[in-house]
Amino acid sequence: MSTVRVRYAPDIRNYRYLIHPLKESAPIVEGFLYTKKQRDILNQYFHKGIDYASGYKIPVYASADGYAVAGYQRYTVLNEDNTPKLYNGKPFSCGLGYFIQIYHPYKISKVKGGRITIYGHLSKFANGIYAKTDKPLKIDYKKGIIKNNEERRKYKKGKEKIEEKIKSTRKLIWKYPWIKKLYGFSFSNDITKKESYLYTPQELKRLHKEGSKYVKWVKQGDIIGYTGTSGIIHGRPKYRENLSRPNIREFSTWDESHLHFQEASRDIKTGKKILNRDPYGIYLSKEHYNQFPYDTLFIDFEKKISL
Ligand SMILES: [Zn+2]
Repeated sequence: MSTVRVRYAPDIRNYRYLIHPLKESAPIVEGFLYTKKQRDILNQYFHKGIDYASGYKIPVYASADGYAVAGYQRYTVLNEDNTPKLYNGKPFSCGLGYFIQIYHPYKISKVKGGRITIYGHLSKFANGIYAKTDKPLKIDYKKGIIKNNEERRKYKKGKEKIEEKIKSTRKLIWKYPWIKKLYGFSFSNDITKKESYLYTPQELKRLHKEGSKYVKWVKQGDIIGYTGTSGIIHGRPKYRENLSRPNIREFSTWDESHLHFQEASRDIKTGKKILNRDPYGIYLSKEHYNQFPYDTLFIDFEKKISL
C-alpha cells in the first residue's frame, strides 16, 4: 500500500498549516484516487483532491491565510471518440463549477513558492469575493470527432459511422446548447484577459495592493463561500453560468452536494496544478481514509474522519 503513496506524494515535507474547510466532520466521499464507480462515470483515475459530503449552502472556511480569487470552470464529459458522454441518457458535466482558490505564500505554507488550496462546486461566495469571468470557449465537436476517428475514416463503413456521430451530436447540441461551451480555460498572458486563478504571486500582491475586486486577502477560518453542486450539470442546466456573484438554489444532479478540496502548487509557466498533496497523506481511494492520519497538513487533524 505504501507504494502508491511513495509514487504519488510529492517530495515536500508536510507542515501542518491548514484547518478543515467545513466545521462539522464531513464524510469523505472521494479520496486522492477515485472510487471505481466515479472512475467509470468520469473516465478518470486521479482525483488529486478530497470530496466532503455536505448539506446545501453550508459555510466553507478558508483553510489558511492567503490571497483568494474566484472563478467558474466547467467542461462537458466526453467519450473517447469526442462525442458527449451520456449518463442516464443525458449529457453531463464536471469541473470545479463556482470555485475559490487561495494562494498561501511561503510564510504561511512553509513551502518555497507557496501553495494553493481550492474549494469547488460552491453555490455562493462570501461578501467581497467576485469571480472574474470571461467568454466561454466553443467546442468544435465535428473537428474532434473526425480527429479521434482517423483510422475509421479510411473505410466507407467507417465514414458513415462518423457522419452518424456528427449528426447525433448536432441533435444533442440543439437540445442542450450548454454542452458546446467550455468555461474557465482561457490561457492568456494578458492580465486583463487571464483567469484570476492563473495570477502569479507577484500579480496577486500587486492587484491586491491596487484594490482589485478580484483579489481578497482572507484569514484562516473566514467564511469564503457556501457548498453546492455547481459545475456538475445533468441534462438541462438549473442555474446561470459564469456570474461574478452566483446564488444558486438547490437542484438535483448526477452527483451529491459536496465540497471539492485540493492542495497543490501552480506551474508559473503553464498555469497547471502540480505537486498535488493529499492533505491526509494517504493517496488512495476513499475506503482507505479510516486510518489515523499520521502525516497530515491539518492542524485540527484529530478531527474525526468519517466515511
Ligand atoms: Zn472532487
